[in-house]
Amino acid sequence: MLPSTRMLAEPPRKPARLCIVGSTGSIGTQTLEIARLFPDRFAIDALTAGDNVDLLVRQAREFRPRVAVIANEDLLGVLRSGLEGTRVTGYAGDAAVREIAAADSSDTVVAAMVGFAGLAPTLEAVGAGKKIALANKESLVVAGALVQSRARESGSPVVPVDSEHSAIFQCLVGEDPAGVERLVLTASGGPFRARPVDTFGEVTREEALHHPNWSMGAKITVDSATMMNKGLEVIEARWLFDLEADRIHVVVHPQSIVHSMVEFVDGSTKAQMGIPDMKVPIQYALSFPERWPAPHGRIDWRALRRLDFEEVDGERFPCVDLAFEALRAGGTAPAVLNAANERAVSEFLAGRIRFTGIPRLIEAAVGRLAAAGTPDLDALRAADGEARRMVEELAGTGSH
Ligand code: NDP
Repeated sequence: MLPSTRMLAEPPRKPARLCIVGSTGSIGTQTLEIARLFPDRFAIDALTAGDNVDLLVRQAREFRPRVAVIANEDLLGVLRSGLEGTRVTGYAGDAAVREIAAADSSDTVVAAMVGFAGLAPTLEAVGAGKKIALANKESLVVAGALVQSRARESGSPVVPVDSEHSAIFQCLVGEDPAGVERLVLTASGGPFRARPVDTFGEVTREEALHHPNWSMGAKITVDSATMMNKGLEVIEARWLFDLEADRIHVVVHPQSIVHSMVEFVDGSTKAQMGIPDMKVPIQYALSFPERWPAPHGRIDWRALRRLDFEEVDGERFPCVDLAFEALRAGGTAPAVLNAANERAVSEFLAGRIRFTGIPRLIEAAVGRLAAAGTPDLDALRAADGEARRMVEELAGTGSH
């Protein structure tokens, strides 16, 4: 969704009532840091987590939401005993996470869960007409058409949290969509931008989890090392900004200072810059259309000697092309790509496949399973399940 005049005309006046889906993760905890900075602007209505019940209890005891939900049902007892003496109600299960994302008591949902699991609560929140601060890029990768058509029906504004998409969103404020020629997504190139390609087979879990510029959750950190993260972001951009694949370009920018750019039809280019700190785009997603003074780091222009840009090396990072191909193919291809990637990353982190097995398994899954057409949610779920099973099976052969 482009920054519209309707969104610009409605500055948030009352404290936003936030539901943070995935409050215990990297984006979730940073969202709560923003809430700490602006106690008058936010009331925390609901927090949800997957397994990390100890952190969820600590967050609930500090922020006193109405409800706290743990997806893992086995942990309900631990959650409830941790909440004793507070007025916070504890619930458990996937259905409770979905229900809380659509509850009337919140007006803004921060979609900060990781992976395909984030799609269902995101769809619920969008269907209920909430303002969405969207970090869960997988929702748009798998079901971009569905999410955006529901957002149009319900009037739900979807504001990106991802730094690249936030940058583009910021560049588009006040612009006529007809003036946009193309989007340029920047990519750091991750930890292996300069590593010899013939050593990629020996990349260790620890090396892949060490990003040079950003501190993030494990899955997105590995996605950054393969550059699948950028591939997923291309698909995310396609749906957020309603532009076809051939108008979205990726360029490697190792310093991660320029977060992305928009080129306009008159030859002008706008870039959004800042030091790599996710709190800036998270805050903007929540403050838009306003900007609030905050102590986040500033660029030191005297120390910043250069900004480099280079083409993506397709041999080194085949995942970027795989994502472009899946986007162009449409149908279930992006859902298969996403599921195969999620499963392959888990297999890599568990030590069952090599780093080089990740793109190979994704390519195999998309080649064998992707189907054309306009899939509904059930078809997307089925494609997701099939792709996971296939990657698990292939990983089990030990040849990847
Ligand atoms: P993390 O892995 O750090 O956190 C994920 C959150 O989702 C945790 O709260 C986790 O709970 C919860 N969760 C995971 N699985 C489930 C499940 N099945 N049911 C319910 N809750 C679940 O991820 P990040 O914060 O790094 O990323 C979140 C999203 O934001 C991703 O889509 C990512 O691509 C995107 N993003 C992240 C950026 C970053 O800087 N981290 C930057 C840009 C985008 P628990 O830990 O309790 O199990």
